[in-house]
This record gives sequence, structure tokens and C-alpha cells, in this order.
Amino acid sequence: MSLPSGTTLPSHAPTTPQTSTQTSQTPAAASSITFDHLGLPDALQRAVDDLGFRTPSAIQERAIPALLDGRDLLGVAQTGTGKTAAFGLPLLAAVDPELRAVQAIVLAPTRELAMQVSEAIASFAQHLPGITVVPVYGGAPFLPQQRALQRGAQVVVGTPGRVIDHLERGSLVLDQARFLVLDEADEMLRMGFAEDVDKILDRAPRTRQVALFSATMPAPIRRIADQHLVNPLEVTVARQSSTVTSVRQTYAVVPHRHKAGALARVLAVTDADAAIVFVRTRGAAEELGSALVERGVSAAFISGDVAQGDREKIVERLRSGALDVLVATDVAARGLDVDRLGLVVNYDVPREPETYVHRIGRTGRAGREGVALTFVTPAERSRLRVIERTTRTSLEQVTIPSPAEVSAHKVRALLERVPKRAEAGRLDVYRDAVAAHLEAADGPVDVHQLLATVLALAVGDPGPGATDDLDDALARAAVTPERPERSGGHLRDGHATGHERRRTNTHIAGGPPRWRVAVGHRDGLQPGALVGALTGEGGLTGADVGKIDIFSSFALVDIPGGLSPEAVDRLSRARVAGRPLRIRLDSGPGPRPGHGASRGHVGHGPSRARS
Ligand code: AMP
Repeated sequence: MSLPSGTTLPSHAPTTPQTSTQTSQTPAAASSITFDHLGLPDALQRAVDDLGFRTPSAIQERAIPALLDGRDLLGVAQTGTGKTAAFGLPLLAAVDPELRAVQAIVLAPTRELAMQVSEAIASFAQHLPGITVVPVYGGAPFLPQQRALQRGAQVVVGTPGRVIDHLERGSLVLDQARFLVLDEADEMLRMGFAEDVDKILDRAPRTRQVALFSATMPAPIRRIADQHLVNPLEVTVARQSSTVTSVRQTYAVVPHRHKAGALARVLAVTDADAAIVFVRTRGAAEELGSALVERGVSAAFISGDVAQGDREKIVERLRSGALDVLVATDVAARGLDVDRLGLVVNYDVPREPETYVHRIGRTGRAGREGVALTFVTPAERSRLRVIERTTRTSLEQVTIPSPAEVSAHKVRALLERVPKRAEAGRLDVYRDAVAAHLEAADGPVDVHQLLATVLALAVGDPGPGATDDLDDALARAAVTPERPERSGGHLRDGHATGHERRRTNTHIAGGPPRWRVAVGHRDGLQPGALVGALTGEGGLTGADVGKIDIFSSFALVDIPGGLSPEAVDRLSRARVAGRPLRIRLDSGPGPRPGHGASRGHVGHGPSRARS
């Protein structure tokens, strides 16, 4: 994916409201003490110095001394708090480099996390030459892992399923294990590893030390802690705001049935290298992933149903740039850490504010800036407010790019490739075609017009034709007044039930008659031109014409005194901005614009010309 600049959905260079979200933390700066107060052995202290860690994070300050002391630990902490060093450093302090047997094992929910943790521990062990750290995870060949274990690794970092496999084949023995870590325990349970985790803990000697880390502390985690930990020190670290993570949080009002079309436009103009789209269910992930592929987007989907091996392959393609868009359910995307993700789209408003925070934390990583865009149906706005209150951020409303913006974006991208293509040569066949075309024409050919037409064809723009439902719906939805979301299925995803529709129509009928004309912003409609037609062809005076709202493909106008059938007849044939007005009485479908139009509308909202 590539570019747009100046579109309605800028993807970088955040402006306002800029948030430092609660999705990531600066591990340091939580403490006034330094690492040398924590009692780490020299070799580990040197590693910490080399890594540039100066001040221990909150979790490190409390967990390291307790773990060095031999205590069990129950840590409520998320990624970004420095938890890996909090357990990784004491774990290494407990390992005897002379003993060629597994002495410490870390369990992690995903292959990525296992690799990440393994690398981190290896970096902490840089001045401990006798120590080997081996990652073991599913979806990778068994034998190399087996050989690495046989060479006498002391530290193993693995996913529960593969660890069990090694235990059962005898390639992994835990008789000498004295330090066990459960990292992201809640994720492991969510992924169905509870039984495996129990089994592994049961295989280790009773005298071992256990550290359990989890972002949340639901009852099943408590049960594991009660069963396997002895008098643990409990440390909870609150999320802190980040100075590195920057996520511009935006939302767009999109009716449910237009979401796929809106998403395709957003993806067509985004600046982000890659994007992740969150959906609620497996079915939705599959459906949307397929729909995007059909539209020519380089997309794939993952859900809880996708086998771990396939999941890894997809994530790897996303990381390498072979894939640009990933559609995922929340569970499937846990632990996903891909720097290229510059855009997170919440295809549905997450039910829990925590889920929202998790989702948007997939972008804005590694010091980059990211954009989060949440699709909200008109009925869901109240849920957005809950998220805003909980996260103490205010989301910025943006509009979905118009077809013209998408085309302009594609044209820019195409033209940017021109110099390189021209340089590559072998253009004779095209030059000949141009010459033949010019020669065959009756009289002079406007070359600008020719080039413009070729560009329009190249970007798939068929020209004016049927009005675009999506634009009309978006324009209306964006100014639909906020309504409380109903429970019990009365009003779901922006589709009014019969009852709701009646109320809406009553509301419209109760106001002054509104007339709709089939000309809008994209035709260059100015309010003056419309007033001109109404007073000219329609026989009205300026005072007869009320408020005008101009949308992308149409406009609405108040004519309190109404129009005679003759005036309607004349006006429907009249042309404004080069297009027939096709005036008719407006009949909905939504409440009128202008009634409760929401804050900070960005881009081409309705212009209120008169009131
Ligand atoms: P973690 O929460 O363990 O995934 O750590 C998040 C990031 O913070 C990693 O890149 C660590 O290398 C870094 N980090 C951990 N502890 C510290 C510290 N005390 N000072 C600076 N950076 C740290």
C-alpha cells in the first residue's frame, strides 16, 4: 500500500487530538533507584549496562529482588512494562552454567513471543558464556530443536504444546528445572493451553521457583496461582502513558452494510505500509478477508480456527511485506507484533474498552506513529463515548475518502512510477498506438483530454453514472443525531426497525418540506447556483429558499412554501453545474442533516450554506 496526502484520513504526522495511549509503557522512569541496588550478579549487571537500561521499571524494581531471594511471584503486567527483564535476569542468576541440563523454562502463548523472550534472555546472558537459551515452538521442524536441547541448553523458552511434545518424546527433561515462568498466562489460557500448562508444572520438581505474569487476573489464573505458586509476592503495575507510542485515534460513521466499501476506500488511500482490520467473529474475518481479496487488496485473515503454523506463515508474510492487510479476530491477533502496521481499523466498535486499547496497541510500535480508525454505525455512537471516557481520549471524527480522492490517489501513485518506467524503455508499441490514434482522429486531438481519459481508465473510474449509494449513506450517517443504542434487537448496526423508521419519517414530515437535487460537491455545486436555478426555472424568490445542505453527490434544500407541480417539472429538467437537477421531495432515509450534526467533521461534510 502507499500514499495519500491531504486526504480525509491522514495516516501520519498526527495533529490533534494526539494521544499518548495507555497501550504501551516506558519501562524505565518508574523508579529513582538504579539497577546496581537490585543485587544482580556482576555478569548480569554488565549486560544491563550494555543494553542501556539505567533505571529499573516498576515491575523490575519489585520483582528482581524477590525473585533473586527465591520467592514465587505473581505479576500483573503487560508487554512494555519491562517484565521480560524482571523475570529473565533473576532466572539467569538461578542457572548454573556448569550444569548441562535444563534449569529454567519459560512458557509463552505464541511463537513470536517465545522467540522474542528467548532473544531477550540471550541478550541478558551475553556475559555468561556457558549458558545456552533455546526457543521451542510449534510449526517449526522438530529435529533442530531436539538437537539444540541435546547439546545441553540450560534455558528453554517455548509454547506449551511444543514443550509437551518434547517432554513426551523425552527430548526435554525437567528433573533439574528450578525456575519456571508463565508469561502472558491469560493468553495461554485463552488459547486453550490450560491443561498443557498444568502438565508441564507437574513435571517439574516441587522445589522449583515459579513466576507467573498476566495482563489480567481472572479466576482461572488465580486458580493456577493458588495451585502452583507458594506464598507469591504480588506485583501489579499500572499502565503508564508512553512517550514512544503515538496513535492518532479516529472514527468514521459508516452504516453497517457499507462498511466493506468504506474499508476498501480507506485501504486504497492509506499511507500505512500495512494494516490490521479487527472483526468480532471468525465468520466475519473470513468473509471480509475474502471480500478484500476479491477487490484486489493483498489481504488475508486469521481467526482462532486457523492452525498455528498457518498463522505464523501469515504473520511472517505481513512482516516481510508480502501481505498488506490482515483481517483478524481479537484472539487471533493477540501478541501480534509487526512494526509495519501503521493502521488499525476497528471494523466494529469493540464491546470492551480494554479490547479497544489492545487493538490499537498493534500500531504505533517501535517508535513509529500509527493511526487507529473505528467504524461506528449511527446507533453505536454511545459505545464510542464509553471508550472515550474509559481511555480518557477524545476520538477525532474523519470522513471516508470519496471516489474522487481514491482516484486522485491512484493517479498520483501511477504518475510517480512514470519516470522509472520511461527509463526502462520498450515503449514503441505504445508510441505507435498513440500515433495511430492521432492519425485516425477526425481533426485535432486534445492530448490533455486523451491523457486524462487514459488515466481515468487506468484507475478504474468509469465516469459519472449511477449515484453512489455509499456516498449518500455516509453523508447521511455522518450527520445523524446521536441516539441511545437499544438493547433487545430493536436497533442494531444502524438499521432502523419498522418502529424506528416510522419515528424518523414522522420527524421529517414534521419539519419544513425538504427537496433533494441530484447535484453535489463532486459536481462543483455552489449554493448560489442552486438558488439561481430555483429562482429562475422554479419561479421562486430568494426569500422562498431556506437552508441548503450540500453533500458529495446530492444536496438538500428547504422550501417552506413548497413547489407547484409545474415548477417541479421545469426544475427537474434544469441543469446546474452541468448536470440535471432531478429535483424531488426528500423522503429520508435518515433524520435530517443539521439536526445534531456532530463535532469536528473533517473533510467533505455538508456545507451549511444558508439558515
Ligand atoms: P518488555 O515489557 O519486557 O517487553 O520490555 C519492553 C521494552 O523495554 C524492551 O525493548 C526492553 O528492552 C525495554 N526495557 C526493559 N526494561 C528497561 C529498562 N529498565 N530501561 C530501559 N528499557 C527497558
